[in-house]
Amino acid sequence: MVNLTFWGVRGSTPCPCDENRRYGGNTACVSIEAPGLDPIILDLGTGLRFFGEAIAGDEPLRALALVTHLHWDHTQGLPFFTPVNRVGAQLDVHAPKQSSGSVAELFDEFMRPPYFPVRVSDLRGDITFHDTSNTELHWGRAQVTVRDVPHVGETNGYRIEVDGMVIAYISDHQQPVDGDDVADAVLELCRDADLLIHDAQYEPAEFALKSDWGHCTIGYAVRVAAEAGAKRLVLFHHDPSHTDDDIDRILGTARALGAEHGVEEVVAAAEGLTIGLGAAIDTTLAELQSSAR
Ligand SMILES: [Zn+2]
Ligand SMILES: [Zn+2]
Repeated sequence: MVNLTFWGVRGSTPCPCDENRRYGGNTACVSIEAPGLDPIILDLGTGLRFFGEAIAGDEPLRALALVTHLHWDHTQGLPFFTPVNRVGAQLDVHAPKQSSGSVAELFDEFMRPPYFPVRVSDLRGDITFHDTSNTELHWGRAQVTVRDVPHVGETNGYRIEVDGMVIAYISDHQQPVDGDDVADAVLELCRDADLLIHDAQYEPAEFALKSDWGHCTIGYAVRVAAEAGAKRLVLFHHDPSHTDDDIDRILGTARALGAEHGVEEVVAAAEGLTIGLGAAIDTTLAELQSSAR
């Protein structure tokens, strides 16, 4: 069984408040765990702190972090990830190549005084940064495909294949302003995925006002899933202004669209939601969604 857990589901900025308590207010972080496989972490947003708490006390950390890009909502959790502050811990961090410096230099730039008192080099564990674009990686028995995704600045999408399951992770995705074409690289990542985790930041009226902010509508997320033949879609990177009630409504719209276009199931990512992917899936995502609340 491959288990995916959502630790942070929000885009742009942490925003915990009473109105979004059910879905959560922490920024992007998802873990992938399977027996005998060191964990894979998708993005290092503020949700990462809670993954760190969940695995505290285990053996020294050995994990792979696949970072889509260096915006705050995907990196800000690293200084608060306590498992990496232990002797013997090892964290491999992949992020897209940048023209302004290596990924290691850029993490060093934002994690230093006066912005934050602790530097990467002060942590007791070892963090190795990799400049990673358009390539394939192996992590234990997992295979990872890395491709460019349209956003603002260099951004990766990831396709993770493990134990016969395919997970596609497209956290931030600028949809074309004119038309609804999907980039070939994105379709390649999402092709026939068992689970597609996709940007779902805007409703159409919001996109009309923020059409070049690097994101897409819920309808476009469904469009990507349908065109790629992805079986299940998880709406992710919720807008910080969207309340639980807004997301409930958006989910209803997305499910209706999904049914129209052949996407079997649609769920909205919620903090604490774990999805088990394996041969014996007997719980639908909709049931998981209600049990997570
Ligand atoms: Zn983001
Ligand atoms: Zn971004």
